[in-house]
Amino acid sequence: MTTQNTRGRRRASGPVAELRPRAVARVDLPRDSRAGTRRRRSPLQQVADFAAASGVGQKAGVALAATGLIMTVALPGTGALTASEGGSSAAALAAGSQPEIAVSASAKVDFSRMAVSTKADPDAKLRQLLSAQSAGSVQVESSKGTLGAPLSSMVSVSPFGYRIDPFTGGYGEFHRGRDFAAQCGTDVFAAASGKVTFAGWHPYGGGNRVVIDHGNGLETTYNHLSSFNVSVGQSVNRGDVIALSGTTGASTGCHLHFEVMVNGDVVEPLGWL
Ligand SMILES: [Zn+2]
Repeated sequence: MTTQNTRGRRRASGPVAELRPRAVARVDLPRDSRAGTRRRRSPLQQVADFAAASGVGQKAGVALAATGLIMTVALPGTGALTASEGGSSAAALAAGSQPEIAVSASAKVDFSRMAVSTKADPDAKLRQLLSAQSAGSVQVESSKGTLGAPLSSMVSVSPFGYRIDPFTGGYGEFHRGRDFAAQCGTDVFAAASGKVTFAGWHPYGGGNRVVIDHGNGLETTYNHLSSFNVSVGQSVNRGDVIALSGTTGASTGCHLHFEVMVNGDVVEPLGWL
């Protein structure tokens, strides 16, 4: 079995409970004002959603929208998006896309094409970050944003670090990850490429759990899953659907408990997301 079994947890209530003091850098995730059901999404929201789903991150997605993407979408006939000009457009070349497709038909498609053509390869960025150093020596200014969102909508509902125990109501429980709202059955994405090192039942409360090793001491874990579709030793790519969220193990309701581990120690996930 993997590291979590040898890390000396003493309580059956799980990966959520480890009474080890640790410096906690709290970064509050802005509440997602778009939470809840949204039948009709504005173009800006679609951009943000796509960006989040594709690993760019919601902030970057909004930034993309704010810096002109939204304008090109509002004016679908303008040159910026017209990738049909004999394949010579820079956007078409950069995306390796199909130049013969006219863009005016669907704004949704245009979003994807623009986002793909403008974002850098996030896994290459992460590899570069980790190639020169252990994950443990990476400063938060550098790590921030290098992992992709494990859910298409990231609404934090319980922070990393010390909190009130959801089972006992007592103070001082150390929460080893961050909880994100997710209805049971929601797609869970690999936060970056890597190799699956655990996929099974976590005996300390994580329920169905998947652990991905991203190399150089960086790992991510996904917990309380209703199911998973990866196995130990399997290589996964950033953004792959590896599981469906759930409420298995020590969980009080459907959500995703997401952990980032650096050299075996859990850290604030928002420092990497
Ligand atoms: Zn949790």
